[in-house]
Amino acid sequence: MISDEIREKVRNRAGFACEYCRVTETDTGGMLTIDHFQPKTKGGSDNSDNLIYCCTRCNQYKLDYWQVRNIDMALWNPRHKPFSEHFIVLDDGMLYPLTQTGIFTIQRLRLNRHPLVAYRLRKRHQLEEERLLSHYRNLVQLLEKANTHLLRLTKEQQELLKEQQCLLRLFFNQRK
Ligand SMILES: [Zn+2]
Repeated sequence: MISDEIREKVRNRAGFACEYCRVTETDTGGMLTIDHFQPKTKGGSDNSDNLIYCCTRCNQYKLDYWQVRNIDMALWNPRHKPFSEHFIVLDDGMLYPLTQTGIFTIQRLRLNRHPLVAYRLRKRHQLEEERLLSHYRNLVQLLEKANTHLLRLTKEQQELLKEQQCLLRLFFNQRK
C-alpha cells in the first residue's frame, strides 16, 4: 500500500504531470495514477524511487512491463535519466527517439498517440503566444515611459517659452 504521504511526495516531485508524457492534472481534470516502474508482480517495491506519477493512458500501455535481459528493450526510467537524453520534440509535435530506449519507450507507451501530438502542438502554440504577449507588454511599457518622458519635456519647453516671453517683454518695456 502506498501511503498518502508518499503519494503526495510523488505528485509534488513530478510537478503534477505524467512523468512519461508530461500531460498535467490541470489538463486531464484530475489526479493521475502511480506506476511502479518495476512492477510489484515482478518484485518492485513501494519505495518512492520506484514510483512514477503517471497518467492512466501511459499506465495502461506500460502495464507490468519489466525488461529482464534484452538491453534493447529497456524502458525509459524518468527517475534516472532526463527526457532530453532519449527524445526530442519535433516541430510537428512528434517525439523523435535518440536512443534505442527512446525507440522502445515511444512504441510501448504510444508516446506519439494522436491526442498527445495535438496536445504538444497546442502547448507549443500557447508558449509562443505567451512569449509574444510578454514581448508586447514590454513594448507597451517602454512606449508609456517614452510618453511620460515626452510629456515632461513638453512641459519644460512650455515653461522655458514662458520665461523667454517674460524676458522679451521686460526688454521691450525697458526700451520704450
Ligand atoms: Zn502519460
